[in-house]
Formats: sequence, C-alpha cells, structure tokens
Amino acid sequence: MDDGPRALDRRTASLATALMLDVPPMPCIVPDGVFDAWSWCESDVIEWRRPADAPPILRETPAIDGQNPAGLVFVMREECTLLPRELARLHAFGYGLDGELALAPYAIDDATDLLYANRLRPRDVFWLAASTLDALVWGLHDWAHFHNHGPFDQPAMTELQCDLVALAWLRRNAARIGLDDACLTTVARDLARLSRKRFDEEQLASPVADLDALFLGPYPETL
Ligand SMILES: [Zn+2]
Repeated sequence: MDDGPRALDRRTASLATALMLDVPPMPCIVPDGVFDAWSWCESDVIEWRRPADAPPILRETPAIDGQNPAGLVFVMREECTLLPRELARLHAFGYGLDGELALAPYAIDDATDLLYANRLRPRDVFWLAASTLDALVWGLHDWAHFHNHGPFDQPAMTELQCDLVALAWLRRNAARIGLDDACLTTVARDLARLSRKRFDEEQLASPVADLDALFLGPYPETL
C-alpha cells in the first residue's frame, strides 16, 4: 500500500501544476440561522491542480453562470467510502489519473452534510482539480460549504455567503493564480448577477440595495 498517494504524485507531477492556495476562515456576515455550524472546521489551505498544458487562465472568458461546471472535480486522496464516488478520470482530464476516486459530481450537498456529520477535514479527503476559472471559483465556493454547514433552507442567502468567501479567497491568491484586477472585477460582477437572480427566484428582497457594490467592495463586515 506504499504505492498510494505518492505514486499518484509521481505520475501526475509532470502533467499538472499544483498550488496550495491560502483559504483562511472568514467571518459569517449573513443573519443567524442561515448556517448552523459556521466554521465547524477551520479552513486553511486547498490543494489546487490544473493540467500543465491547459491554456493560461486569463485567456479564457470568465463566465460564472452555473454551479459546478465541467472540469471541477474533488479528487479523493484515499477512497472515502462515506461519500458518493466515481472514477476521477471520467471527469478530470489531463492529470494522469488512473484508479483514483472522486466525489460524484452530483454529491456536493451530500459531501457538505457528511463531512460535517463525520468531522472529516476536507483537505485530508480531497484535492481540487479545476482546469478553468469558473471551475476554480465554484471549487472555492464548494470549499466554503464544506467548512461551514447550514440547513440550506435559505438558498439565496447561503449561496451569497459562500460566494463572498470564495471571492475573498480568489482575491487573496490572485497573483499566484495569475488573475489581474480586470478579471477579478468580471468575476465579482458575474457573482453579483447570479446572486440577484437567486433572490429574484426566491421572491425575496436582496439584503443590500446594491449587490454589485457588495461584491466589488472588500469582504464586508456586515450586510
Ligand atoms: Zn453553493
């Protein structure tokens, strides 16, 4: 069994670039009750890998318009039998993956609940495969869910909080990722537009009058 994770690292080292992104815990700024266990596990780092031959991330048009795009895969370091899983190589291409397993793409909510219920530290379970900017943004968004449990009975508010954390993490690591200010602005506006749509769909007033200003500004102290 000495051939597990280290074998994977040897095989993928020349195919993918790996970065440990700095993802510290952030304060909860949405009303009490949206989350029932904020920061039950303090986030610290996420290992992000990307195929070495993928085009530079800035060359892509960032269009953040849907949940969990293709190319976003949480690859298991070792098989986690508690979680729905599939072969990682069916979803993550260009990493040299073989028999490694990944969280099933439909199971983000299951992982949010089961990691919390079993007190499994996300970074001990997964590394993130994300080949594009939208995949990375959603990967960070899901990473926020994985460390902050909520009943998800206020979806627009829950998603707003996780988007703000993901954006704060993206900004913090922007230079290392290779993102410029224009790109971060585009991501912030995309997330604001999505948030507005979610509140509209729930027929709720947005908690702030100007969601664009909220996302374009620094991480808020309160809503
Ligand atoms: Zn979400």
